Amino acid sequence: MFTLIELPYAKDALAPVISAQTLEFHHGKHLQGYVDNLNKLIAGTPFETLPLEEIVKQATGGMFNNAGQILNHNLYFTQFAPKPAVPAGKVVDQIVKQWGSVDAFKDEFVAKGVSLFGSGWVWLSAQEDGSLVITQEAGASNPVTKGLKPLLTFDVWEHAYYLDYQNRRAAHLAELWKIVDWKVVEERYKNKK
Ligand code: MN
Repeated sequence: MFTLIELPYAKDALAPVISAQTLEFHHGKHLQGYVDNLNKLIAGTPFETLPLEEIVKQATGGMFNNAGQILNHNLYFTQFAPKPAVPAGKVVDQIVKQWGSVDAFKDEFVAKGVSLFGSGWVWLSAQEDGSLVITQEAGASNPVTKGLKPLLTFDVWEHAYYLDYQNRRAAHLAELWKIVDWKVVEERYKNKK
């Protein structure tokens, strides 16, 4: 049985970048729906006892879609903070090494989010040697399916931004940098093995 994660901040704490209303629907309705669906789908199957990440790696069809969306949203919702510290740490050092600057990295990340056709996610992930890669994942997919360690993600499904930004996906993605908690990204990077 999977349960809905609790948000590590108040529902109105990320406004105006993400409104309380968007969080009410995104976390309370969309993510809750994926959790309920997955619990129904795995009941009485060998997947019932597997960790979420293993289900994402092994399942197909509706089970993959619902498990992937839970994993994606769990990583997404727990990477934000109302007043995050400035980007720092080994992951930021690696970003500067590969992209030249944090701003250049942000530009490419947002561009890949904007150019993703339809619903999906843009990700920063680590490879086994510690190098970083930005990938686009369609639908419910997650970089763990490619053997990568996911560190940071922006949700480009319309339900993530339509109430606050309507069709302005690029504007929404640019605003999200204000609430990215780089301490969480750093922790994920340090625990990549
Ligand atoms: Mn979403």
